[in-house]
Amino acid sequence: MYELHEREVLEKLRELDTKRVLIQTPEGLKREAQFLAEFLEENGIESLISGDINYGACDPADREAKMLGCDALIHLGHSYMVLNLEVPTIFIPAFAKVDVIKALSKNMSEIRKLGKRIALVTTVQHIKDLNKAKEFLENEGFEVRIGRGDGRVSFPGQVLGCNFSAAKVEADGILFIGAGYFHPIGVALATKKPTLAINPYSGDAIWMDKEAERWIRKRWAQIAKAYDAEKFGVITSTKKGQLRLGEARRVVKLLKEHGKKAQLIVMNHINYQALEGFDFDAYVVVACPRVPIDDVENWRKPVLTPRELEILLGLREDYEFDEIIG
Ligand code: SF4
Repeated sequence: MYELHEREVLEKLRELDTKRVLIQTPEGLKREAQFLAEFLEENGIESLISGDINYGACDPADREAKMLGCDALIHLGHSYMVLNLEVPTIFIPAFAKVDVIKALSKNMSEIRKLGKRIALVTTVQHIKDLNKAKEFLENEGFEVRIGRGDGRVSFPGQVLGCNFSAAKVEADGILFIGAGYFHPIGVALATKKPTLAINPYSGDAIWMDKEAERWIRKRWAQIAKAYDAEKFGVITSTKKGQLRLGEARRVVKLLKEHGKKAQLIVMNHINYQALEGFDFDAYVVVACPRVPIDDVENWRKPVLTPRELEILLGLREDYEFDEIIG
């Protein structure tokens, strides 16, 4: 169940003297967005819900809010990211209500295999439980480190699918608390340290080393598919926190220096369907690193990250995760 704290939101909006607000939501919080809009309207604030699905704090609809004459934006589901926003924005992260200690207790024998010094990381959903988890593990005799991370993350110990800076601390191994594979695989690849993922919902513990190997094999296959490509589309996104124009230009230059044709493409929601009709042999996505990976099955042309392109061009040998550094 998601805690909206709608009265606090109303207070903040009143402090901002808001007459009209735009509410932005990820897929899983549409009903909460609807409830919030109704509540705010009952309290005299005109509320518009954005029907565009949002995947991260990197994609605030502040420009749209401004265009619609809104005095503020409410961004549900994600924590604050430092961006140059055009209207005051209230970020309301989604915190999960699940007992992380129960899952940790169940997996103590696996956790001990990480070594004595553990770096603890999680996604924003479980960030409030991180100190509780630290205390629990310290009582079990571990030295627990929680990295501050760089300016792209809001909380110590928080990782994003594009940023694992909080995991890069002196430690023997990394303990990730959360569901899903993408984040802990990213942690394992970014730190090159033994990484154990504990899912607080199922109570399962999974070592990421094998998962990361399997994942890298798939990415090498994608790199091999692009081997004969001559014409590359280099895509960046107009989403504020994904716009990496400098990096995209660097990639175009690199390709040209290696005798390839390269064209910069800019789009908001990057998807293969929208690119059909272009005559490129392969693409490099210089935006959210999840796009060329999560969505690869839907691409009929090879699609790489900038780091993978460097491997293709013979500029690096080791596989490296594409991160956006804040
Ligand atoms: Fe998440 Fe991708 Fe945005 Fe990073 S760029 S915050 S991984 S949606």
